[in-house]
Amino acid sequence: MARKRRRSRRRNGRKLGLALLALCLAALYPLKEQLSEEGGYSHSAGNAAAEDISAAASSVFREGSALEVHFLDVGQGDATLVICGDGAMLIDAGNNSWGDDVCDYLEYQGISNLDYVIGTHPDADHIGGLDTVIGSFDCGMVIMPDYEKDTQTYEEVIDVMDEKGIELTYPEAGTVYELGEAAFTIVAPNGEYGSNANDCSVGILVEHGENRFLFTGDAEADAEQDMLDSGMDLSADVFKTAHHGSNTANTEAFLEAVDPEYAVISCGEGNSYGHPHAETLNRLRAMGVQVFRTDEEGTIVVSSDGSNLTFNVPPSESWKAGEPKGGEK
Ligand SMILES: [Zn+2]
Repeated sequence: MARKRRRSRRRNGRKLGLALLALCLAALYPLKEQLSEEGGYSHSAGNAAAEDISAAASSVFREGSALEVHFLDVGQGDATLVICGDGAMLIDAGNNSWGDDVCDYLEYQGISNLDYVIGTHPDADHIGGLDTVIGSFDCGMVIMPDYEKDTQTYEEVIDVMDEKGIELTYPEAGTVYELGEAAFTIVAPNGEYGSNANDCSVGILVEHGENRFLFTGDAEADAEQDMLDSGMDLSADVFKTAHHGSNTANTEAFLEAVDPEYAVISCGEGNSYGHPHAETLNRLRAMGVQVFRTDEEGTIVVSSDGSNLTFNVPPSESWKAGEPKGGEK
């Protein structure tokens, strides 16, 4: 459980944000409301408060074989922590600038090692912070798609894996891995997608008792179709919408197969891509899906006892689409 921290400095400017992230974990949402009303978490008091609240959250959430999924607010990007008993898995770690914050968050959650680290695909908003995480924590298996990208960000991840003697594991659709009392199955990628890094995204389906959680990275329409064609059961209670809620993913046919009760959208407020797109929100709304959003609600935590699901915040009911800037989609 030894941990080597490479960081030589702590950025105080980021600490308030981290304290707020931890606040979101305070426990179930009524408790969070209560804490918010009490207020009083100044910047200087933030660190201690964050640690205390995290410790409280641990005891509230993590009894027995409960499973928690933390959708970290890392702005425009993805970082998802899955904890089940003694098992922990990190799926992506946001942009390069978020590496330290993700490490801090893991530390506050009492994580000392990660059984699995998944880099869904080599884009910077997913693997940017992974080099810091892999360099700082003991990591078991690191899973990334067989897709190399000629960027410094990608090199940094590979370099730190080399330094620590970790071999990259490629995803094989259908392979099942255990995570505490839970298990997850690789559901993507199912083919080759040329230069489309998004479609190469590693997709996994986590099962914990009766509850199912689907994560598909930034997989777009072609990859979604291939998942459908694979014949795998993609139905899930919680779906992390693909590609930050983009309309290039989350196709109607795919959403119908997943048939989620809850959807979580990870995106940054005011992002230039206009995520989440109106088409995605409209589809989810028409299906009666309850939507949670990191851009509006910060870090989202859902806890499973194997049959019930509890979120730390109420669903967003804004149904507000992003606004693309500069002609980007
Ligand atoms: Zn992305």
